[in-house]
Amino acid sequence: SNHSSSTMPPATRILGPLKVPSKLLMGPGPSNMRESVRIVLGAPLLGHMHTEFINIMDDVKAGLQYLFQTNNELTFAVSGSGHAGMECAVMNLLEPGETVLVVQTGIWGQRVADLVDRLGGRVQTLNVEAGKAATLEMFSKAVEDCKPAVVFVCQGESSTGVAQPLEGFGDVCHKNGALLLVDAVASIGCVPLQMDALNIDCVYAATQKVLGAPPGLAMVSFSECAVQKMRTRKTRVPSFYFDAFELANYWGCSNEPRRYHHTAPISLVYALREALSEIANEGLEQCLLRHRQCADFLYSKLEEIGLKPYVKEKSIRLPGLTTIELPPNVEFKLIIDKLMSQGIEIAGGLGPTVGKVWRIGTFGVNADKEKILKTVHALDEALKTVHNKDV
Ligand code: PMP
Repeated sequence: SNHSSSTMPPATRILGPLKVPSKLLMGPGPSNMRESVRIVLGAPLLGHMHTEFINIMDDVKAGLQYLFQTNNELTFAVSGSGHAGMECAVMNLLEPGETVLVVQTGIWGQRVADLVDRLGGRVQTLNVEAGKAATLEMFSKAVEDCKPAVVFVCQGESSTGVAQPLEGFGDVCHKNGALLLVDAVASIGCVPLQMDALNIDCVYAATQKVLGAPPGLAMVSFSECAVQKMRTRKTRVPSFYFDAFELANYWGCSNEPRRYHHTAPISLVYALREALSEIANEGLEQCLLRHRQCADFLYSKLEEIGLKPYVKEKSIRLPGLTTIELPPNVEFKLIIDKLMSQGIEIAGGLGPTVGKVWRIGTFGVNADKEKILKTVHALDEALKTVHNKDV
């Protein structure tokens, strides 16, 4: 050994090369990367304050404003996965003692409620039955009753496969002096989200679903109303890393000269720029249509093999993520394992749907009829083998 006695030797496992199998990621995310995104990940690193990199950040901002359909100045990416977007949004919008109304349609409302509690806020919940969406009537009544500072709604509830309609929600919030915060992690690019037209005050999303980039950046945007509230805070934002005005300065959203805030994950910013460019070139409407058509195709193929969607009301199904009722007497985990052994990922339930559904994702490049056929075929074959064994 060439290691001196005072140096602990490396474990042999770290001496070999990295091995990564290629899988078809038809679960709730991450989805498969776009090939063009994979290529830009290998581009040379730049410094996080270099002119060329700052130019790329400006491209990303423009791409995000298009993706969210907003003119908001404070539109940028936070380093971290979707949860980083959630933490950034809640930490900046909320002050201790204030109330957040959480529309709970699945696990994401629970997550936000937990976070609000950690930050010293008060949580009020509007509970919605799993697999359903909140109606505007229910929503209005809840907002009027509890007069919250912030209202949280998840647009693409990935634990149940529901797309929550948002028409009128922003106006109800504003009439009652509340800000509307929307989680669009699983819905951005597969469900229309016109941030400005819907009067939404804060949206966060992530890179690893429809965008087809690796996880590691969360995109956020704050409205002028949100900025007003943040400017008049009585307490400081309890995080430096997630402070929206610090981030906004680094992202060049104010007229001040940019200051170093943190070292951006350079390669992930390239990846996000590439994904946004692909969506802009495809066109947002075409991207939405492709996801809608692929979801309809998936429903019809599932029906052919005797499987039923968990969300009964077709108009509120999330196009990027389909929840499927488990047939009776089938060990759902065994089926997932059988598909995984062929390199195809589908998932079981999450939160309120644990043990009740399978989840098939059709995000980004996986909104593709061939990939859907391959997945449903594998699911059909797996179901036949378990049934045969039972006979
Ligand atoms: N919100 C929704 C709707 C999600 O689907 C997810 C990821 N499954 C998240 C938030 C959290 O994102 P991440 O896992 O990237 O932190």
